[in-house]
Amino acid sequence: MAKQTLVMKFGGTSVGSTKALTKVIDIVRDARKEYPRVVVITSAMAGVTDLLLECVKQAAQGSVDGLSHSEAIMKDIHFSTADDLIQDEKLRDKTKQEIDTLILSLIDLCKAVAVLAEASPRAMDAVASLGERMSVRLLGAVLESAGLKIKAFESTELIVTNAHFQNAHPDFKATTEKVHSVLNPLLDEGIIPVTTGFIGATPDGVITTLGRGGSDYSAAIIGSTLPADEVWIWTDVDGIMTTDPRIVKEAKTLSEITYSEIAELAYYGAKVIHPKTIRPLVEAGIGLRICNTFNPSHPGTRLIANVPSDSHARNGQVVKAVTAIRNQRLVTIEGRGMLGVPGVAARAFTAVASTKTSVPLITQASSEQSICFAVPSESAASVLNALQAVFAGEIADEDIDRVWMTEDVSIITVVGVGMRHTPGVAGQVFTQLGNNKANVLAIAQGSSEVSISMVVAAADTELAVRSLHELIVK
Ligand code: ASP
Ligand code: MG
Repeated sequence: MAKQTLVMKFGGTSVGSTKALTKVIDIVRDARKEYPRVVVITSAMAGVTDLLLECVKQAAQGSVDGLSHSEAIMKDIHFSTADDLIQDEKLRDKTKQEIDTLILSLIDLCKAVAVLAEASPRAMDAVASLGERMSVRLLGAVLESAGLKIKAFESTELIVTNAHFQNAHPDFKATTEKVHSVLNPLLDEGIIPVTTGFIGATPDGVITTLGRGGSDYSAAIIGSTLPADEVWIWTDVDGIMTTDPRIVKEAKTLSEITYSEIAELAYYGAKVIHPKTIRPLVEAGIGLRICNTFNPSHPGTRLIANVPSDSHARNGQVVKAVTAIRNQRLVTIEGRGMLGVPGVAARAFTAVASTKTSVPLITQASSEQSICFAVPSESAASVLNALQAVFAGEIADEDIDRVWMTEDVSIITVVGVGMRHTPGVAGQVFTQLGNNKANVLAIAQGSSEVSISMVVAAADTELAVRSLHELIVK
């Protein structure tokens, strides 16, 4: 059956300038030739969400001094692109007027926050959402000016969430109903709905956001509930790379990656797509493609269902990508008295959770004499305090000798579904690191066997990534 429905999401840089928006016009026009039903989702213009959040943080500290400067920056980037790309004077003025009203509401919100000297999560979302609320008006008018049949509106009309502001969770059932009732009539008429990423609303209509970088997730939510045949994420790189090209110049774009590989990569620091994007699409069996607005003829990276691992091993593609998460500390709880004592790990992780820190990596020696895990450096001090408090008794009784942490370390992860059932990969990985004199402080392998992670000193990060990248078959 011919493909019918395509959801395309454009990231901040893809809508961040006249040059970028000019590309977007062509991309949407071309897509519409191929697909009778196209939905467009937009992020805020590059840098705008950061700027908005900075304004509200300053306001919470009582300062509104920087506001007029931020206001000027926001006006400038939106208005200059509007001037360049919206020919019709009436449409241009209307668009600028609407954006101006949103900027004024930023000023009002920040002033209110400054009076209270406190920004609630709800107020933060009211501010953070302004970026997409501005960009959707701009993009809508730009596409309309280019002669496309569009309708621009906010995704508060589509995505219903709980009231967990700043990281709201969608109600898929309620969202499906809205997506169908709002989008289908437009799509049936050949109109391209243009809507905001990142934002939703509670059942009462209060605006929420899905978390930073959440526009990708919006595309997955809308794509899976419609459902679309494909979701394409337009960004400013050619796709998912074998590693960070700033560390290894030979890094290459992967033409294909499986869902489980990308999940590991997203978790371990590759910032190409938001980790939550993957699940709704896998469950609905929808194809995902990552492509470059600035190089649209490049095929990008396609996400594929998890294929049997031996087909990868046969292709020799065992390790597919290497990633590094920096600025971590390794915390160790050690003591001979821990041997066989139940509940130490549970108490340790409860204490860590009480500091609202998430733990990307855990290892335990089989002697049970130590538990070791990584936490982000910024939360290390509060984690250490919490652990010392919870184990104060054991420390006094010398059942636990000490709770301590390293200096900054990095977690290096190699990812590849072919590693599953391919013996000897771990051996290759550690030999490679050993030969290159990168010292490994801790190791963990997920039970999915799709990745192996190791912890190295911060200073060894580049060395470790470079030497492991040599294992990727080119
Ligand atoms: N504009 C939002 C952010 O910067 C959402 C997104 O771009 O995905 O976090
Ligand atoms: Mg993003």
